[in-house]
Amino acid sequence: MTDCIFCRVVEGKAPAKRVAETEHVLAFRDIAPQAPTHVLLIPKRRVAESAAHVRDDHAVMLAELFALAARIAHEEGLTRGWRLVTNVGPEAGQSVHHLHFHLLGGRPMRWPPG
Ligand code: 5GP
Repeated sequence: MTDCIFCRVVEGKAPAKRVAETEHVLAFRDIAPQAPTHVLLIPKRRVAESAAHVRDDHAVMLAELFALAARIAHEEGLTRGWRLVTNVGPEAGQSVHHLHFHLLGGRPMRWPPG
């Protein structure tokens, strides 16, 4: 998908500060960080537009993604806590239609989110 910015990041055709990767998952820093640590975790293949399209056969990729998020949070020194969120649809503020999770940390977080 040439109009998918995260696909271009995976292909190395769009610049991104890569943080880590596994077989199925890439982590890179958000271009407009909302916290001292703001890392995006995505499946390398655009297997779903959002969490609304996740299927059973994405289980291995998702387990990898959650484990990688925890590893990055540890490596970033987020000992006081962190948040892993995914936006689905316009009312939640989803702007990129390639499944992704935001890893946020390094500042106090409010609940519920705005
Ligand atoms: P969403 O709003 O869909 O939940 O999250 C999309 C995120 O992607 C936003 O936080 C936005 O700042 C980030 N983003 C959009 N385009 C780029 C880009 O080209 N590079 C990087 N690193 N992040 C991007």
